[in-house]
Amino acid sequence: MKTKAIFIIVFTTALAAALGSLFHGQSLAAFGDTRKTGDEDAPSLEIYGFLREINMSFEEYLDLTKELDAAGIYPHFIKENAPRYEAYQEKNPQISFSEAIAYVNVNLDKEFYSDILDVPNLDSVTMLVNKHYRLPSDWMPENLINVYDSHFLQEEAAVHSLMLRESMIENELRIVFISTYRSYSSAVNTYSYAIDRYGVAFSDLNYARAGHSDHQTGLAIDLLHISPPSTLTGTNFQDTEEFKWLCENAHNFGFILRYPDGHTHITGYKFEPWHWRYVGTDIATAMYEKGIVTYEEFYGRYLASGVLLNVRDIVLERRRIAEAEEEALRVALQEAADEAARIAANQAEEAARAARQAEIRQAQEEAAERERLAGESAAAEDLERAQGAGQDTSVFGARHIVFIIFAFAFFSGGIFLLIILKRQRKSQGQKQR
Ligand SMILES: [Zn+2]
Repeated sequence: MKTKAIFIIVFTTALAAALGSLFHGQSLAAFGDTRKTGDEDAPSLEIYGFLREINMSFEEYLDLTKELDAAGIYPHFIKENAPRYEAYQEKNPQISFSEAIAYVNVNLDKEFYSDILDVPNLDSVTMLVNKHYRLPSDWMPENLINVYDSHFLQEEAAVHSLMLRESMIENELRIVFISTYRSYSSAVNTYSYAIDRYGVAFSDLNYARAGHSDHQTGLAIDLLHISPPSTLTGTNFQDTEEFKWLCENAHNFGFILRYPDGHTHITGYKFEPWHWRYVGTDIATAMYEKGIVTYEEFYGRYLASGVLLNVRDIVLERRRIAEAEEEALRVALQEAADEAARIAANQAEEAARAARQAEIRQAQEEAAERERLAGESAAAEDLERAQGAGQDTSVFGARHIVFIIFAFAFFSGGIFLLIILKRQRKSQGQKQR
């Protein structure tokens, strides 16, 4: 009961701490740019840093590689390795050429422990640690947290391991974590103990040499079912419902089976159904969906630095072409727009000219109309004046005639009177004599 209470407390705390960054996209953002070369052109050796640099999602990256595969282009084909690919496939005719490329990319054409390389991406949950890739003796993960019962894992792996465990409990499946993070010095001790007891061949098949242990990453868990109790040696874990469930569901929590059955020549270890490794949900899910069984193959296909450089070159070339096409289209559109603007300007000028002419015409018509109206009113006035004058003339003419008649009559009457008076005076004079 006490253990359960502690588990619940740890679980709740870890879950609360992780809530802000629980979703994968965000938790991935916590992994900074791991570029260490100082060369601005070199992409990060860590997949998510690399994808950020070329502004691509993991999904787009997988889509691109799928498209290239379908077109018969191997994006993981690294030129310098070409002779080694052919030699490896000749020795392993049962695998495809694509698989041969992937395996050679992680040095699997070489003897285990014969040509050891340093793990290039210590900051990433995607790091590959095996009999070809070694961790530094003084290195331990910075973000280890106690999952429970002094079992330490890197924070992201710890949170996901608890979610996985919780989900199993909901399905009435019970597991217990046997071993999680183990230090370099613990590997030194375990391996030297095994050598003393079992000899090199058996030890190398079952134990990692110091610096080569997946457990030093803080991302690996050895787990077993609770009941009936079992041990790592002589376990029947692969026959349990728990193991079957993990094979179908662990990828949803970012875990993969690290040492699958029948792949000892790749992994260097015999089948370990209890050993699960956190690589993140993107990669675990991609492996599940693509049916890629070993992490070595996935790494050699999708994550190795030479592969990332190839993909970067392909992506940049495609973008360059797309940009050139876009520029050509932009220029063509600009030219068409310029031409349309020129035509529109001509039409506008034409219209303005027509409008001006219409205006002038209208002004002329108006002037003519005004003139016409002015002419009419002047004529009317003249007519009026003329009519007025005509009346005066006729009145004056009539009066004149009357006056003349009167004057004539008066004058004739005067003359007549004078004649009569003269005749009377003459007749009076004759009488007097
Ligand atoms: Zn293990």
